[in-house]
Amino acid sequence: MIDFPNYRRATNVAYYIHAHMNIPITIPIDVRAIIGAAPNIRLLSYDEFCRKMGLTWFELMRLNVSEQGFSLADFTQRKYFILFNDKYNERTIRFTLAHELGHLSLGHHNPTIAADKEANCFARNLLSPAPISNALKLKRASDFEKSYFINPAAAAVASNMLYEDLSNTTKENYDQIQRSFLLNNSTPSYVEIGCKWKRRH
Ligand SMILES: [Zn+2]
Repeated sequence: MIDFPNYRRATNVAYYIHAHMNIPITIPIDVRAIIGAAPNIRLLSYDEFCRKMGLTWFELMRLNVSEQGFSLADFTQRKYFILFNDKYNERTIRFTLAHELGHLSLGHHNPTIAADKEANCFARNLLSPAPISNALKLKRASDFEKSYFINPAAAAVASNMLYEDLSNTTKENYDQIQRSFLLNNSTPSYVEIGCKWKRRH
């Protein structure tokens, strides 16, 4: 059981996933593709889950599950489920999916306040990676909101926590995430500008 959140670990596990999933790092981050690439995780909406289990919506809510989503894990069999309420808007769903992926990736066995704080930190760094925010010089919450397709509340936290997230990022992860992002996002105009500059000097 986790009593105190380890934000440094939560941050770097999110970056480890980015670095090792073989999914190009482009923004907005495709969290569904990341979950889809994980072989043992099944993603189900609450509607699909209810249909499969023969439950009504009311019966599901009576199980005391979160309104937004939850995850189920069999850590010994390595089988995982992420369930989410698809009645929320896509920005909120994206954060819910990243948060639940955080619980699974960080090996949370019990729901605690500290585990939720770690999962939020993981989700923030998965969806709005601090090395990319730094490369793009994002400052205002509205810039985070637009660039990462996250909701205003998540954008405000990402903007406020940028320097703490950067200080928690290992140098190796910082370099790898930034390099991979810049490689996947170099546009022809950028190259052209580079060439012109070279010719003149
Ligand atoms: Zn949670």
